[in-house]
Amino acid sequence: MAVSDPTPDFLKIKNAFRHFATPEGGSVRALDGINLNVASNEFITLLGPSGCGKTTLLNIIAGFERLDSGSILLGGSSLLELPAHQRPVNTVFQSYALFPHLNIGDNVGYGLDVAGVAKKERNRRVSESLEMVGLSGVEKRRPSQLSGGQQQRVALARAIINRPKMLLLDEPLSALDRNLRSKMQIELKNLQSELGICFLFVTHDQEEALTMSDRIVVLNGGKIEQRGTPDEIYHRPASRFVTEFIGESNIFSGRVLESTPEFSRIDLGGAEVICNNPTLSAGEQVSLLIRPEHFHLKAADEPSSSRGLNAVLEQSVFIGRDHQLHCRMGNGQEVSALIRSSFKALQAGQPLTLEYDPAAWHVIPERERVN
Ligand code: ATP
Repeated sequence: MAVSDPTPDFLKIKNAFRHFATPEGGSVRALDGINLNVASNEFITLLGPSGCGKTTLLNIIAGFERLDSGSILLGGSSLLELPAHQRPVNTVFQSYALFPHLNIGDNVGYGLDVAGVAKKERNRRVSESLEMVGLSGVEKRRPSQLSGGQQQRVALARAIINRPKMLLLDEPLSALDRNLRSKMQIELKNLQSELGICFLFVTHDQEEALTMSDRIVVLNGGKIEQRGTPDEIYHRPASRFVTEFIGESNIFSGRVLESTPEFSRIDLGGAEVICNNPTLSAGEQVSLLIRPEHFHLKAADEPSSSRGLNAVLEQSVFIGRDHQLHCRMGNGQEVSALIRSSFKALQAGQPLTLEYDPAAWHVIPERERVN
């Protein structure tokens, strides 16, 4: 695991297990021994492929689902004994879940109305919550008179109005178009900082997780595969699973030829790589990862470096700011690189040297591999 949990004093999930019976007579382990501590003001994201257990964990914290065994404490008290409506947490869903027959003011103020809060105070807080999500003055409208992005803001305003200690967000942005989604990602992060409460965010979108989170918890088959800051998860993935799930990466298998305190020399089977990794032993098998954006092409007037992979360009795809290069090395292995589009035109079949900084390689010894 990349980092230990920071201030383990707010949400504490211990040995959480939950299985479901399948219609075929089998059983699925949706949560398979989850241990997680979360700080009171963290933006923490559960990230993983479909079926890895994200929603199950969120639903258990919300009180919509039960645990088979394990415990969940919030601020030192057990959550599991409380019914959903008494838990100091609120949930924002992908589908907004607004009441279509109520106007926006009544949707946002619903929880306060149920709690019997006086009208003046209720109206003040409705305005305040709508203002916090950047949507003042729409109290009299119906949900159908707002755009999808605006409806999601209303759902957020409703979720924060009774000042929960924690907000659970289940893929809240996935129904929005790409531009609005990027804008809302920043706004959500700002809202979380402003409120100073914990946001537990669920997504299967790694870019979204990297953009917003203080920490990311990567789930796989009901287990935590890795937890860490976006930087740690992206640059120092703990396993092949995390590497493959978080962005595109070149993954090779290799054998350490030589390892000194400064560098290691690794054989990829017909090609050699120099990387900064002092803890390897000669002869050991490793997985090596390098992101496509960590390669660069040597300009004609630059001196050549011994730190490069020789490959032949098979295809170059223009993707806006960058060109994605699909290449093949002499040993037959594929390698991809992301190169600024300003670079001179490249032709398929052309030999290239993909240069790299030895620090850009991430090496996982086979003995440490989780997957
Ligand atoms: P997605 O991103 O698709 O929503 P997820 O990571 O949120 O997926 P969960 O919904 O938590 O995953 O499901 C975890 C596993 O538990 C899956 O295999 C799912 O099929 C199974 N599961 C979840 N809820 C139930 C249920 N009520 N009955 C049977 N199986 C369930």
